[in-house]
Amino acid sequence: MKNYKIAILAGDGIGPEITREAVKVLKLIEERNDVSFELMPALFGACAYFATGDAFPQETKDICDSADAILKGPIGLSHEESKNIPIDKQPERGALLPMRRRYNTYANFRPVSLPKELAHFSPLKAEIIGEGIDIIIVRELVGGLYFGEKEMGVNKDGLRYVKETLEYDENQIRQILHQAFKLAGHRKKVLHNIHKSNVLKSSVLWNEILEEVAVEYPEIEVINILVDAAATLLCLKPTQFDVMVMENMFGDILSDQGGGILGSLGLMPSACIGDDKAYYEPSHGSAPDIAGKNIANPYSMIGSVAMMLENSFDMADEAKNVWAAMQGVFADGFSTADLSKPGSGVNMISTIEFGDKVVE
Ligand code: ATP
Ligand code: MG
Repeated sequence: MKNYKIAILAGDGIGPEITREAVKVLKLIEERNDVSFELMPALFGACAYFATGDAFPQETKDICDSADAILKGPIGLSHEESKNIPIDKQPERGALLPMRRRYNTYANFRPVSLPKELAHFSPLKAEIIGEGIDIIIVRELVGGLYFGEKEMGVNKDGLRYVKETLEYDENQIRQILHQAFKLAGHRKKVLHNIHKSNVLKSSVLWNEILEEVAVEYPEIEVINILVDAAATLLCLKPTQFDVMVMENMFGDILSDQGGGILGSLGLMPSACIGDDKAYYEPSHGSAPDIAGKNIANPYSMIGSVAMMLENSFDMADEAKNVWAAMQGVFADGFSTADLSKPGSGVNMISTIEFGDKVVE
């Protein structure tokens, strides 16, 4: 029997609620297969800061170090609450970025996917969605503005100023592009490269490296699009995209837009992959506005489990079953509050009920 250790970081806000449902699914997978999961819960994010003074405590690091994979809920506080925590101790700076750096999880895969049968969830017209949306955003996750040097102070004119640097070296760019080309090779063999080379030098280098890497993948068609134009096209003609690759910040913004065109951020799971470690998390934040109400959509978290099964445990068939089970709940006319538009005929169910129906 295979034995996998999974660090479970439930996180903040809606994190514990959606993690509970994801764990139900993991337990079922364990029952159905010749596999055992050792679940190792740990504090991470604002909850960890309040308990220990550190958003990514040593104990959590040790648990994550020893895990075969990490399932991570969203972290963070509301804008108001976060004012009470020193800036460097905040969940994103104190836990999320250090986690990405620690495990060098440079490749973030974010599916933006809505089968035709669920097109009614999208705010886009049915004729725009056509046969369904099926995009994977490949976001660089350990470079760019998020990790560059930062400075804040008062300049010689007495004005408050801020400086943030966007830095990539060619190896960082090359490794994420290889991931994107490989993925495109397993899919439609088209890669949309999202950049801003008319303004940013980082994009100029990015595109130069892309031309070099592309030589190794002659079967892949590359289409270059400026990030601003891509934002428009994601709304007007999302079906033209299959694999989209981009730097860190562009990926953050366009993937939230991806959640928007699906109808909810609750439909956005993701996988964050490094050479030796991977963690899985919803693409969205901790949604403090709906926390504790049993109304969050756990699809993003259960979908992250599916990505873990496929990628870390070589259980692609069970991953497919998880996707099918979740989409089956929707197809049966049920959905969580985020996707239940008045008059849509959808039966609204809670976070817990959604998890139970997936397991059923
Ligand atoms: P972050 O900076 O951490 O990405 P954010 O500012 O982008 O956070 P989120 O917390 O991701 O904001 O969510 C924005 C809104 O989307 C939430 O306030 C919530 O209303 C909705 N939302 C996000 N995730 C879910 C979910 N799983 N189910 C239902 N609604 C959600
Ligand atoms: Mg966000």
